Amino acid sequence: MENYPDSYYAENASFLKGTYSQIVDDQECDICIVGGGFSGLSTAIEAAKKGLKVIVLEQHLFGWGASGRNGGQIWNDVSWGIEVIEKKYDISLAKRIWNISQAAVDLIDDRIKEFNISCDKKNGGINAATSLAKLKEYEKNMKYKMKTYNYNKLEALDKQSVEKEIGSSLYYGGILDYGAGHLHPLKYALGLVKAAASLNVSLYERSAVTEINHSGINVEVLTSQGKVKAKKIAVCCNAYIKGLNIGIENRIMPCATYIVCTEPLNSNLQKEILPNDYCVSDTNFDLNYYRLSENKRMIFGGAVGYSLKMVESLKLRTKKQLDRVYPSLKDMKVDYIWGGLIALTMNRVPDIGMINDKVFYAHGFSGHGVAFTGIAGKIIAENMIGEKTKELEAFEKIKHRNFPGGRLFRMPLLVTISSMQRMMDIFNV
Ligand SMILES: Cc1cc2nc3c(=O)[nH]c(=O)nc-3n(C[C@H](O)[C@H](O)[C@H](O)COP(=O)(O)OP(=O)(O)OC[C@H]3O[C@@H](n4cnc5c(N)ncnc54)[C@H](O)[C@@H]3O)c2cc1C
Repeated sequence: MENYPDSYYAENASFLKGTYSQIVDDQECDICIVGGGFSGLSTAIEAAKKGLKVIVLEQHLFGWGASGRNGGQIWNDVSWGIEVIEKKYDISLAKRIWNISQAAVDLIDDRIKEFNISCDKKNGGINAATSLAKLKEYEKNMKYKMKTYNYNKLEALDKQSVEKEIGSSLYYGGILDYGAGHLHPLKYALGLVKAAASLNVSLYERSAVTEINHSGINVEVLTSQGKVKAKKIAVCCNAYIKGLNIGIENRIMPCATYIVCTEPLNSNLQKEILPNDYCVSDTNFDLNYYRLSENKRMIFGGAVGYSLKMVESLKLRTKKQLDRVYPSLKDMKVDYIWGGLIALTMNRVPDIGMINDKVFYAHGFSGHGVAFTGIAGKIIAENMIGEKTKELEAFEKIKHRNFPGGRLFRMPLLVTISSMQRMMDIFNV
């Protein structure tokens, strides 16, 4: 029987999973969704709420992809910051995307409430600066966001305060964002599955889509055992899309990132480390992201690799980073280590859109998708059902280029760039 990849989350939440069969016959529906992560499930919930007949096909288990294995951190904004859009486009488009990212964060709370999802959600997150230069940049950015985007949930922390909040002396200061937060991602994903089931969505697992044919009036979605005829489809496969060939795959680059999870902290360490239960994301190029689980394990993510074969070295690098941030945890037992794929876009802005009036997609959350995937699904569903919304129009203005080097050479090129960035981190520049 297929199971989730080994992780603390799977160990501690897979009992919440329902039983969903493989598709073995031919079916018809209004909306077919490929991919059963946050994006696909969110699209399904919104489409079903409008009374449409919806089918979701997931190649493994619901929440098997990044959605069931991530750091669980909830942040607004896009991965490299809204400034990317301001610089390349204009302030009005940046404000529209910013508001969408804010709505994405709110949507998580709405869904938890509406569907009574128990997923250990906590509020507050810290962006911690690993150099003085980065701290100055953060502080400048904070003032700008408060003024330009009216975002008033931020507070600057000096070195002493950040040390008190995080329990590590590594940082020069940071910004506390009261609007950020964290949750248990697999519990949340399985809560969304239950919500979709309650809205009569037909849910299939172990049903890999092998081909999508959209040249006729309807869309034909093929799997090895069964087939779906749908009026419209949403492709929500993110980094795991390999081989579907609908023309969007080269706009993303799958990258591996790893998480180590320690045994529960003892009561002395609990008082020192993250006493207010905030999550942390720091300014390393190989961003470290960490938080405590509901039973006080350290869940620490780091090391991004551009080769999926670097497993052992990435695991070691992640543990080394944990020891650097928290020397006091050096001898703690690591109970779980797992990895997953994120999908980067060239500009680190999600790629949400439509190929034609029957085929929609959302991917490329660039490691920043816990919140954004939910709103992406909502945007897709609204546009599948009615007229084009201003939210989709905003995303259509952002042009996504293919990664240079195509499928074969895009990875080596990024390895070179990231190695240079890593050197800059080591020398704190
Ligand atoms: C280790 C890790 C840590 C992360 N930490 C954070 C974090 O702390 N905060 C944050 O905001 N983001 C984080 N992310 C990113 C975040 O998890 C993703 O952006 C988000 O989960 C993407 O959701 P999704 O539904 O688009 O994709 P996924 O959850 O990856 O789901 C895609 C699904 O599509 C299925 N699929 C693919 N091809 C087919 C096919 N042919 N037929 C049927 N099904 C198919 C896959 O099996 C998969 O289940 C992290 C990611 C990883 C891997």
